Amino acid sequence: MLSPADGSSDHRLGAGVRPLARPVDDGPDGYGRPVSTLPHRRSPSGLSLPVVSIGLWQNFGAGTSFDDQRRLVLHAVNRGVVHLDLANNYGPPPFAAEESVGRLLGRELRGRRDELLLTTKAGYRAWPGPYGELGSAKYLRASLDESLRRLGVDAVDVFYSHRFDGTTPLEETVGALAQAVRSGKARQVGISSYSAERTVEALRVADGLGVRLVVHQVAYSLLNRWVERPGPDGRSLLDVAAQAGMAVVAFSPLGQGMLTGRYLTGVPADSRAARGGPLRPEWLTDDVLGHVRALDGIARAGGRTLPRLALAWVLRDPRVTSVLVGARTVEQLDESLAVASDPPLSDDELRAIEPHAVEAGINLWGPRSSDR
Ligand code: NAP
Repeated sequence: MLSPADGSSDHRLGAGVRPLARPVDDGPDGYGRPVSTLPHRRSPSGLSLPVVSIGLWQNFGAGTSFDDQRRLVLHAVNRGVVHLDLANNYGPPPFAAEESVGRLLGRELRGRRDELLLTTKAGYRAWPGPYGELGSAKYLRASLDESLRRLGVDAVDVFYSHRFDGTTPLEETVGALAQAVRSGKARQVGISSYSAERTVEALRVADGLGVRLVVHQVAYSLLNRWVERPGPDGRSLLDVAAQAGMAVVAFSPLGQGMLTGRYLTGVPADSRAARGGPLRPEWLTDDVLGHVRALDGIARAGGRTLPRLALAWVLRDPRVTSVLVGARTVEQLDESLAVASDPPLSDDELRAIEPHAVEAGINLWGPRSSDR
């Protein structure tokens, strides 16, 4: 098994990749649409995901016109990004992203539901009061019902517990996930940002309830390596997830934009950091930007771009099933998708990268959300 920190073993981008079942062809597929050429990875749990997935956390709400949202989602789907990741609170404001996807499923994407893997989550604040966040069965059940209504679908493909909740027994939270599967409202279930220790507990509870947690969604990037750190039993979160056969979906692999070169010459007015979003400008220290600059140089020397290097680095580990990117424009998404045709990082590149793959203090989701 690859140990990401040691730079050894199998780094092939294509490890675990299998071609799509449909014929690979840039021309029409007989339904008047282009056929995707994006490779998939399949986890031992059976979940098959495109190596690049798209998330609708930011840029799918009040600050972005519906036309721009539509352009991005349709472009993604037509390029084979068939995994659309949602949550009740995405937009912003909450509910907006699910409402937009619901509109698209009723119009431009009508009849294409089964081509898509739709995931949603509940855990962060969606409405006021104690039943509007965390991990109670009441909240999870109500939230899933509301997500289905907004999306206009009978079931989502995966429903996640968005974060660990230390105030609710895990039996109740995981029990609500099990109930979601039994009711047919979620085809499969997963967890997000649970620490290695909490994941072990959740897996045990799920086992007892006869439900499988098929996927773990975790923050992972060149600037945020918490999933590699050993937990109390010596195993990292990546180890625990892989040994349980879970798919691993790595979110914010571009460090919310910090790993794109976007901030190397200042803070652009249209950037996430400038918009008062979840990328805090104080993270952009000289030290961190120095590492980003060095990574940019390594990317250029290898004939890559910085975002493609950042994504290839996360995908070097075959335990990662998909990188879950965000995008504000079609051009940004295309840049991320180019990683699928890049060669894997060489051992020399990995060795050069290692001193610059540092913790940048940007993990909003890790141990803190696991131990409250
Ligand atoms: P990311 O891919 O690390 O960052 C995306 C942002 O980087 C874009 O919105 C854009 O920001 C910038 N960017 C992307 N490509 C670029 C390029 N080629 N050149 C310049 N800038 C570029 O991912 P993220 O948006 O933080 O998160 C992705 C998804 O992960 C979310 O949508 C969500 O589905 C999931 N997520 C899950 C959790 C959880 O708790 N489970 C938490 C966070 C995220 P600008 O607006 O500055 O252009």
